[in-house]
Amino acid sequence: MSVVVIGSANLDLVYEVERIPAPGETVLSRGLASFPGGKGNNQAIAAARAGAETRFIAALGRDAAADELAAQARAAGITLLDRRVDAPTGTAVIFVDRKGENSIVVNSGANAALVDLTEAELAEIAAADVMVVQLETPLDTVTAAIRAARAADTVVVLNAAPSGAFPEALLAEVDILIVNEHEAAELAGEPAGTGERSLMSVLTAHGCDVVITLGADGAFVGGRGADPVKVAAFPVEVKDTTGAGDVFVGAFAASLDRTADERSLVAATEFATAASAIAVQRKGAGPSIPTLDEVRSLLD
Ligand code: ADP
Repeated sequence: MSVVVIGSANLDLVYEVERIPAPGETVLSRGLASFPGGKGNNQAIAAARAGAETRFIAALGRDAAADELAAQARAAGITLLDRRVDAPTGTAVIFVDRKGENSIVVNSGANAALVDLTEAELAEIAAADVMVVQLETPLDTVTAAIRAARAADTVVVLNAAPSGAFPEALLAEVDILIVNEHEAAELAGEPAGTGERSLMSVLTAHGCDVVITLGADGAFVGGRGADPVKVAAFPVEVKDTTGAGDVFVGAFAASLDRTADERSLVAATEFATAASAIAVQRKGAGPSIPTLDEVRSLLD
């Protein structure tokens, strides 16, 4: 499968600190590590590691953070189709204290400049089997990408995350919607805590297939006129669930069967469930993303 991901790219700067500084306080860090971050970037890495030929359209600044992200993308086997813009590359500064509590500041910077898709970018969308978009880049761009994919018969996977305003009418142009429970309730206009069956029927009424991820409870898959199916999570010892949803989305897109019927939707969900089960057993978002061989051996 060929997958094109359009979305956010951030460099995550993780500072290990004894404790998180209070206002006006200076603390010394015990270590600094940088990882690829941003939903788009994480999903592209997950798709590439899961074996898909992956292209990633993103806006980066003209700075060292961009060069580092480009090197990380290369190492992951992604073809990075980046535009360099006059804004700093998106960064997240993360303080992690001894107890593992964290405090995060995100500057989305260059990600806001991913607007007005170029002819070349639109051609990449048209050429791919599957396109993956999320909501960390401007909504107009997401809309234009969905329309371009639709016109070219490229399968549209929308991860409507983080939750926020999304035009309901556009869901009719999405092939597969992937959301966690919180995002599903928000999108469906239902109160938090609404059961997954009700959320599923509201969301599939828009005409798209829907996967609701349920954390340790796995995922709920519906659409295509069939009864929704629950796919159980793998019982694993959890270390860090950061980025589990992104691994799920990337692995799902990579394993999708283009002649998608109801069965293949469930098969892609099972594959994604295995990939994210591996990821939650490891620390960090980017470094925890599994390879195809690792996912296959869990499924065997
Ligand atoms: P998000 O990270 O977007 O909130 P979820 O928490 O629903 O998304 O997690 C996405 C997927 O990761 C789940 O569908 C599940 O397959 C897997 N996952 C998450 N938490 C666990 C867990 N504790 N044990 C096993 N798998 C998990």
